[in-house]
Amino acid sequence: MSDIAVAEKQWFGHPRGLATCFFTEMWERFSYYGMRALLLLYMVAPIEKGGLGFATEKGASIYGWYTMGVYAMSIPGGWIADKFLGLYRSVLLGGIIIATGHFLMAYPSIQTFYLGLIFIVCGTGLLKPNVSGIVGTLYSKEDVRRDAGFSIFYMGINLGAFIAPLICGPLGQRINWHYGFGAAGVGMTLGIIQYVAGKKHIAPGMARQAKNEADEREAERAEGKPSSFTTQEWKRISVIAILFVFSMLFWGAFEQAGSSLNLFADRLTRLNFLGFNFPSSTFQSVQPLFVIIFSPIFAWLWLRMGKLEPSSPAKFGFGLFFVGLSFLLLVPGAAIAQSQGIKVSPMWLVGVYFLQTVGELCLSPVGLSMVTKLAPPRIVGLMLGVFFLSISFGNKLGGYCAGFFDRLPLPKLFGAVSATTLAAAFILFLLVKPIRRLMGGVH
Ligand code: GLN
Repeated sequence: MSDIAVAEKQWFGHPRGLATCFFTEMWERFSYYGMRALLLLYMVAPIEKGGLGFATEKGASIYGWYTMGVYAMSIPGGWIADKFLGLYRSVLLGGIIIATGHFLMAYPSIQTFYLGLIFIVCGTGLLKPNVSGIVGTLYSKEDVRRDAGFSIFYMGINLGAFIAPLICGPLGQRINWHYGFGAAGVGMTLGIIQYVAGKKHIAPGMARQAKNEADEREAERAEGKPSSFTTQEWKRISVIAILFVFSMLFWGAFEQAGSSLNLFADRLTRLNFLGFNFPSSTFQSVQPLFVIIFSPIFAWLWLRMGKLEPSSPAKFGFGLFFVGLSFLLLVPGAAIAQSQGIKVSPMWLVGVYFLQTVGELCLSPVGLSMVTKLAPPRIVGLMLGVFFLSISFGNKLGGYCAGFFDRLPLPKLFGAVSATTLAAAFILFLLVKPIRRLMGGVH
């Protein structure tokens, strides 16, 4: 069969290569979130319970550095793909390094624990941005299915994130932490196998992209382009810089799901629902489940709103508003738990995660696509990297907040997170008009 015939194979009306990317990222996220669900709980668990016996502050700090590293590494990861390895080999190598990292953690020793974390940070940096890059190559510039393709891909991310804590969580918390980490490694291995098997489906898109890039470079050389930016381009770059700060604050609150909210689930929440007992890590599945349920509804809602659909900066504002509201909701929950010394209903956290998902669906899909629209074409890759850095700093910020878990009364801690994000939302709503002027026609 020729490459073209293969390229024309369809998957739900999309290029068949989308399935390859979907399952690769699904398994990679399975391994990431499966391990993440256990990471902090394992670090702070007493040694006699198989944990590392770290103080919460130390565990949260390592957690913050680790999650920060994962996203920060997307920048060199993207660069290595561009300059040296290409997309296909970067994703493959990234997957192998990630799986090795999880298997290192499956071995119970402190050295392999840290080494495993470093492997996962480096491997994810190679895999995550580049598998999204491959999705981009599946569609020609004119192909109207591109956005829908990315939405399906986002479903893959959340499917992996949903299943992982349900498998790695009980294995790790009920049987042995290291079985949980090993299961994460098995997931990544399955992802690599299906990625290699599906190579023929993604190859034509990557070949087309390589040709387009070569043509563009050739054209630029022929025109002898000057490379300074126009005033309008600078204005748009400044919008990215402004939104960088707000994005960082959003993720700083949101990414506490794996740290302070995970601890809240573990220590202060009743782990029983309708007669079923479940481990605390099960809560990590709630958010991705909500994403899977609500993203089609949001896509429909934006379409339905037509001209009333909020602008991108306003959606950022809503993202911050809802994440702020979610922490506000937890203030009374935390107050009841701590003042009465009881474990509270799991519905508190379900409510928190619901509000956070509403925030995520306002902000996350808009963020990256807006950067691609605002950045001058020749620095889109760099600007996407910068945007990943805001997520990275946000993760560090989240870990920093979680470090106060044992040191501050929780209503105070959650109240402070809520006040900061709500204030940021308010400021951003005031800035929507001037930002839109700077955007100069981009929505
Ligand atoms: N949950 C999404 C993912 O894992 C988005 C998280 C993020 O970008 N911080 O890719």
